[in-house]
Amino acid sequence: MTKTISDVICPFCGTLCDDLVVTVSDDGTKLLDVENACAIGAEKFLHSQASDRVTRPRMLQEDGSAVEVSYDEAIEYTAQLLAKAKKPLMYGWSSTSCEAQSVGSEIAEQVGAIIDNTAAVCHGTTLVAVQNVGIPSCTLGEVKNRADRIIFWGCNPAHAHPRHMSRYSIFPRGYFTGKGHKNRKLIVVDPRTTDTSSLADIHLQVEQGADYELLQALRAAVRGQELTGDIIAGVPKAKVYESAELLKSGRFGVIFFGMGVTQSLGKDHNIDAAIMLTKDLNEYTKFSIIAMRGHYNVTGSGQVLGWQFGFPYSVDLSRGFARYNPGETGSIELLKRKEADAIMVLGSDPGAHFPIRCVREIANLPSVCIDPHITPTSEICKLHVPVAFVGVEVGGNCYRMDNVPIDSRKVVEPPEGMMTDEEFLRAVNTRITEIKAA
Ligand code: SF4
Repeated sequence: MTKTISDVICPFCGTLCDDLVVTVSDDGTKLLDVENACAIGAEKFLHSQASDRVTRPRMLQEDGSAVEVSYDEAIEYTAQLLAKAKKPLMYGWSSTSCEAQSVGSEIAEQVGAIIDNTAAVCHGTTLVAVQNVGIPSCTLGEVKNRADRIIFWGCNPAHAHPRHMSRYSIFPRGYFTGKGHKNRKLIVVDPRTTDTSSLADIHLQVEQGADYELLQALRAAVRGQELTGDIIAGVPKAKVYESAELLKSGRFGVIFFGMGVTQSLGKDHNIDAAIMLTKDLNEYTKFSIIAMRGHYNVTGSGQVLGWQFGFPYSVDLSRGFARYNPGETGSIELLKRKEADAIMVLGSDPGAHFPIRCVREIANLPSVCIDPHITPTSEICKLHVPVAFVGVEVGGNCYRMDNVPIDSRKVVEPPEGMMTDEEFLRAVNTRITEIKAA
């Protein structure tokens, strides 16, 4: 016998699709099938059933081997590591629930840590730009029901957010968009030809690193100003004017942007300009802008840090109060300056994404990696603590890329005796309180 669970949330990317159908065994111990998810989303669910999954904490030995330890030993090691460090770094948080993130913030405050999330290497520049100039935004539901002009700038949702276009931005028929993609015009800005750009009505092949120039040229074209030169940022001038007219002629438009523009030359200034382009377009029609957030709850991590400390990432609590100065208080800068004396990573993989200098520094530090998977980070940290999959084996609140909170659900039991990350963090927090009081 089997059970079918509908309206399940996918805990992989920031699209947070909420229409999955999962089949489990009658006793809820085996996950058998996943419907409606894309390939990467389905793999996340099915990976929880892998026979070679690590189910107990492992401590790295001097000779490079790893020995299994109990959760109690792992809690003691983590609590001692954080309580004794002068400036611990607590990094990640983007692949876990808001509940676990909230406990992490309590620990960070108690030990005077720097707490940072993966925005440090993706949309942190977006958050800075939003603080600079604000953000005219909307929900993905509004996009589905209203938008007839879409820009994908520096992102490739066909691969990174595979159901974004079919659920929200291009193909679905909404309340005012009954003809689906036939009534939507798509502009893709990308130096490369991609599976997303192949769907575009206009593909602006911007010169690598010249997004700022193209954004400002589009702003001028939207206002009807004269552009000098035949080619602007690698794009023929006529195409810039054609794009501006296409955007102005719509009833409701949205700019979606990704790391191709947040992490290329210009960084937060690019996003300032993209937001100002959105503002300019609102003189002619209705326009919004949304960041294509990657990890399924990186947006939630910014929300939790925001309501706890007033800042969305790179928060330095080492002086007993919250400081925020991206470029100084970020994880990369801290590791490059060799200032952290311990590191705890949860729900991300800096071993795969940070510059090699920083990865080497992580390998040299007392370290804990809390993650359901074996990753490059878990392999270089002194202690790896496997935990239940959030959104599969334990529920919890998450924020979609448009800042809409959605509760993820538990659909299957975790392996026997396995802790959730929230339970593990609560136990560590209690033990740190005891150590500090002694
Ligand atoms: S698009 Fe993202 S949220 Fe939706 S099923 Fe695929 S990985 Fe999951």
